[in-house]
Amino acid sequence: YEIYRESNPRKQAPQSLNLANGQKRKTLIILGSGWGSVSLLKNLDTSLYNVILISPRNYFLFTPLLPSTPVGTIELKSIIEPVRTMIKRCKGEVKYFENSVQDIDPISKNITLNDGKIIDYDYLVVGVGSKPTTFNIPGVIENSSFLKEISDAKEIKSKIFKNIELASALENGDPLRKKLLSFVVVGGGPTGVEFAAELSDYIQQDINKWQPELQNDISITLVEAAPNILPSFNKELIQYAEELLSSKGKIQLKLNTIVKEVDSNYLKGLIKEQNSDHMEHIPYGVLVWATGNAPRDICQSLMSKLKQQDSRRGLLINDKLQLLGAEDSIFAIGDCTFHPGLFPTAQVASQEGKYLANIFKRLHKIERLAFEKKIRKIEIPDFKYKYKGALAYIGQDKAIADVVTFGKTYPSAGSLTFYFWKSAYLTMLSSFRNKILVALDWTKVSMFGRNSSE
Ligand code: FAD
Ligand code: MG
Ligand code: MG
Ligand code: MG
Ligand code: MG
Repeated sequence: YEIYRESNPRKQAPQSLNLANGQKRKTLIILGSGWGSVSLLKNLDTSLYNVILISPRNYFLFTPLLPSTPVGTIELKSIIEPVRTMIKRCKGEVKYFENSVQDIDPISKNITLNDGKIIDYDYLVVGVGSKPTTFNIPGVIENSSFLKEISDAKEIKSKIFKNIELASALENGDPLRKKLLSFVVVGGGPTGVEFAAELSDYIQQDINKWQPELQNDISITLVEAAPNILPSFNKELIQYAEELLSSKGKIQLKLNTIVKEVDSNYLKGLIKEQNSDHMEHIPYGVLVWATGNAPRDICQSLMSKLKQQDSRRGLLINDKLQLLGAEDSIFAIGDCTFHPGLFPTAQVASQEGKYLANIFKRLHKIERLAFEKKIRKIEIPDFKYKYKGALAYIGQDKAIADVVTFGKTYPSAGSLTFYFWKSAYLTMLSSFRNKILVALDWTKVSMFGRNSSE
């Protein structure tokens, strides 16, 4: 505890024009406060550069536990870490602007903030992530909630509890009750599955206990275009998860179902079947859209300025994470990049951030040796992704995991895996404060149930 207090905040070397040896101190601008950028910041020797962090979001969000927040298993404040405290733990002073970048000029090497301020850089790291996409399906934006940011989780929470209140006020047997209490999730990836599982737990463990009169009217439907959910997992695990989720009719899985249109009452899905395809109207009270990523506007604009950037799916980088077309000064990490073969995950983004922290150390060394007119070759190694496994919570205190040990992947499922899931997330939460808060949230739920108020 004393050690914690003493290193928070830390005594920092202030920013300056030159370093101690007279060499120019370069400006390194980092965009974003997500998995990629924060991993870079936490591993970077910030005393070597004048580091400026720019992000409209003044906190880091631990996304893996976001699906647990709308039903109150985890409190939102437990999974965020303020940027202001993070930068005060760095070795050298870091400047932070709570703003978003509107323009990047790779030729003049400067960025323009939303308020018009222009800042020059020597090096720029783009870690702005991606935005959710609706694949231009009519009605999705107007009628559904995404599940990507804190604001989304709050919106979903308030929609769920509003509908539960509205339904409770209706007579038993009123058909509107069924509609209000139809919760539909689109997207069978980890986010959609974990949210549906949390919602199902909430209904089984809390609603059925406190408001059993609603029981017969509540339903959860998970819609997925592919023939299976959780495509990145091992086949046996997929089967195990599908069976557990749909057991006793808790969650209706609608696989092979392509959403074509959404209006304020129904989702129109094309169901692909062996002999024929048919359209089905799926009624909903609350709709959560948990699928699809697209490049942000800032990345599209950057891509349009460089002829080497000819992918529509994200920023193209080389093996050293340098941006094609601006290799000498711009790096890109995380979900804003597109590399075939790698999933857009926190695991990839954080490894890329950590790798770059090491690269910036080497770049600094190269520049220092050149300044001191010393000759020594410093290698810049390629980035190599190391897959460390995958985890997903599937409800009823059970999880599935692809566990990697000594380069081999082993599937694992069940209640023990759930404890593994919990402990893995506690380990991944980087701040001591967040670890304690999340552990307390889990304890509170097991003792008192979920907090269903806002
Ligand atoms: P982000 O973390 O999205 O960060 C982007 C940052 O850039 C944000 O701070 C944003 O505010 C900022 N920004 C946006 N626009 C601008 C701008 N114009 N200028 C400056 N800054 C800007 N991955 C896993 O590996 N395991 C999981 O269990 C897992 N679960 C997930 C659960 C959910 C609900 C979600 C949504 C994602 C999950 N992921 C998981 C994926 C993971 O969160 C992403 O891959 C990861 O966040 C990517 O990191 P990033 O730094 O590229 O982007
Ligand atoms: Mg980031
Ligand atoms: Mg994040
Ligand atoms: Mg993002
Ligand atoms: Mg990527």
